[in-house]
Amino acid sequence: MKIELINVSKIYKNDVKAVSDVNVTIESGEFFVLLGPSGCGKSTLLRMIAGLEDITEGILKMDGMVANNLDPSERNLSMVFQNYALYPHLTVEENILFGLYKKKNMSKTEKIKKCKDVAEMMGLEQYLKRKPRELSGGQRQRVALARAVVSEDPVCLMDEPLSNLDAKLRTNMRKEIKQLQKRLGITMIYVTHDQVEAMTMGDKIMVLRNGRVQQIGKPLEIYNSPSNTFVASFIGAPPMNLIPGCIENGEIILDGGHRLGSLRFQQKRSIQEIIVGIRPEHLNITDVNNRCSINFNFSVKYKEILGTETIITVELGRQEMFIRCNGQVDIPIGKEVGISVETDKICIFDKE
Ligand code: ADP
Repeated sequence: MKIELINVSKIYKNDVKAVSDVNVTIESGEFFVLLGPSGCGKSTLLRMIAGLEDITEGILKMDGMVANNLDPSERNLSMVFQNYALYPHLTVEENILFGLYKKKNMSKTEKIKKCKDVAEMMGLEQYLKRKPRELSGGQRQRVALARAVVSEDPVCLMDEPLSNLDAKLRTNMRKEIKQLQKRLGITMIYVTHDQVEAMTMGDKIMVLRNGRVQQIGKPLEIYNSPSNTFVASFIGAPPMNLIPGCIENGEIILDGGHRLGSLRFQQKRSIQEIIVGIRPEHLNITDVNNRCSINFNFSVKYKEILGTETIITVELGRQEMFIRCNGQVDIPIGKEVGISVETDKICIFDKE
């Protein structure tokens, strides 16, 4: 099912404008992620699509039909919440069966068969007679997923479904949810504040800030060409280094006087203030006096040796920068190092 939002806004009764003028088309079978910090309007947007909140302004279309006033039960969608919302007094089987409550014409035997099939697919068959409190967090999450997918609704909405799981389980569940969605061919709209979930699961990501869309695109488009400094610092860990500077006569000069080589840029004014964005993996540590094209001397402030890579924080005056090095790089704190920049990979942003 294709979902369109046209100029959609939400103003709550207390005059909070939670969502402002959102325009987006979510294609059938797409894994679409709503990403942004807490309070940016993700859940409000999801709840408007589900029919759990009124749309103040704008149009919601489902497969081309206006759906603003459709009852939630008529929208052909299932939902998975952060707290799983399982019924504690019902067994796993009864909880999953609840996902079929809309199927008035299906016999009890058919429903039980379907429930068993889904439980088997999700590795839950031995837990069907247990109550939710007798399950681990990961198993409970699987029951919530099973209850959503058993309905075979063409759209599934998920609101931070992995935030209560530990890191290892989260990594496994990311893969499981993505594979399940592709296998079933359903449209997924997935809310998260975790950029790793967004990058690894999304076919497309929409980044929100204060209820406004900042950028919509494929994960790598957003990573490589963020539309502004907010998106640049929200995607990627450690975040993109953002350094104030200017373009003067076609050359980028960082604050402090460092010249980023002989790059040529189109510019309207003779001096234009900018922010230069450099991903940590596009900086390399060199000898102090290495004579490569762009080479600054910094001192090492902090290091994190992670096994496969090392994150080094350097500083020059008040400017700090993150550098991602392959492998285990053990440089003493306080040592002076040179840094070279892969200048063809830098991003230029307007100063806000
Ligand atoms: P997110 O899911 O990104 O954390 P929400 O959609 O929950 O953001 O909230 C967006 C904004 O709307 C926040 O400022 C929040 O305080 C406000 N908000 C959410 N629900 C309500 C409500 N029922 N009444 C009034 N304001 C609300």
